[in-house]
Amino acid sequence: MLEKILVYDAPDAMGLDVRVVARHLGDLLPQAEVETRTDFFTWHLGQFDPEQVEVLTDEVAARLEEREVHNLVAPARRDELEPVTPESRDLGVVYVADQLQDVMRVLLKHEERGPSFLHLAYITQCLGHWEAGEVYLRLQIIQHGEPTIISTTGFVEAPALPREYAFRRAHLLSFGMEEAAEELDERFAGAALVHGDARIDRVAAGYALQAVFRQMFGEVACDTPTCPLHPAATHDELARAHLDEDSRLCDRHARMLITARGGAADAD
Ligand SMILES: [Zn+2]
Repeated sequence: MLEKILVYDAPDAMGLDVRVVARHLGDLLPQAEVETRTDFFTWHLGQFDPEQVEVLTDEVAARLEEREVHNLVAPARRDELEPVTPESRDLGVVYVADQLQDVMRVLLKHEERGPSFLHLAYITQCLGHWEAGEVYLRLQIIQHGEPTIISTTGFVEAPALPREYAFRRAHLLSFGMEEAAEELDERFAGAALVHGDARIDRVAAGYALQAVFRQMFGEVACDTPTCPLHPAATHDELARAHLDEDSRLCDRHARMLITARGGAADAD
């Protein structure tokens, strides 16, 4: 039974308010305690003695640096293709998701591990994985597990852009028409999430629900396009699942929560 959800802030994520996410989770899961914390590394490193913190911080920083992706080209294709850096794609720091998770997991306190706890760590860095047969690192929004990691930059960068937009934008930029590209971004912003978007909390809460359902019920996805558990491969799909007027948990998933609540009440 899920008893406690720990939500870690990503202070650099523009517009993200983890208290809003926590309140939303608390409303849906009254049987669970929801706590917000500062960002994952600051909080966990802060649990150690002051003299240990400095050494540990250096150690963690070194381990993170080792796991940073500097070339987005798949290792198997690097002989034939020029390197593509994350900077050239405006992505900032990029990690292979399960490697970052390994570094984070060892910092979790023993008494806060196991199926009663869900650690939800928001980060601004990008997450990705090497998908078999693909030329470039595949970006992702969420890495399930202990802890679950959610990349807010991933909300914007991981879903595919509509083809026409991507084409026109690249075309404008290739002619140095940055202003025109920005105008295009603005027109496009109505439909898709962009950096600094005020609707980030809704998407953040939707992905938190994906983690909750996975842990509580083993549910990994939903076929209903307007359910926040629906996996979004494109910006259109992300908007349908999280931002549209009719975006909400589908009947089946809403019923699962209600049933779990009833079960928890019976157990009291
Ligand atoms: Zn659903």
